[in-house]
Amino acid sequence: MEHNFLNLNEGSFPVKIKKRLKSLNNLDQLGEIKEDIKVSIEIERLSKEVFLANGFISVSFESECLRCFKHMDTDLNLDIKVGIKDNRYENLDKKGPLEVHYQDLDNFDIDVLIAEEIHLNFPSTVNCCGPDNNDDLNNEDLEKIQPFKKIRDLIK
Ligand SMILES: [Zn+2]
Repeated sequence: MEHNFLNLNEGSFPVKIKKRLKSLNNLDQLGEIKEDIKVSIEIERLSKEVFLANGFISVSFESECLRCFKHMDTDLNLDIKVGIKDNRYENLDKKGPLEVHYQDLDNFDIDVLIAEEIHLNFPSTVNCCGPDNNDDLNNEDLEKIQPFKKIRDLIK
């Protein structure tokens, strides 16, 4: 996999990044990526230490429904607005209203930010069907557990 590191401490801004990715590190557990990940991000420099990544990421995963195990798609269309600061501020910063991504700014890898955003926005449970299906299943199970109930009903 090719990696293009950016040096955010030098260079001119805004930096425009537009690309398609076949895969990304650390996303395997979310499912199979169906099409290229589409990325369009612009990085601005807000001050000496603070940068802002603005843009969008879209990706489609195929995974198994946790309820019925059917294959299903999970589409993410993410609007990205995230601050970027150097690693060394990570333990010093108080949590502010803007989400901040920390990395080594001399060797900035946008793919790490992209993977992190996808993880943060991926739904915690993946289901293609509602809890109604689950209830039906429970009733069936209950009948299996109580086979004599039907016989009792007949005898009445
Ligand atoms: Zn399902």
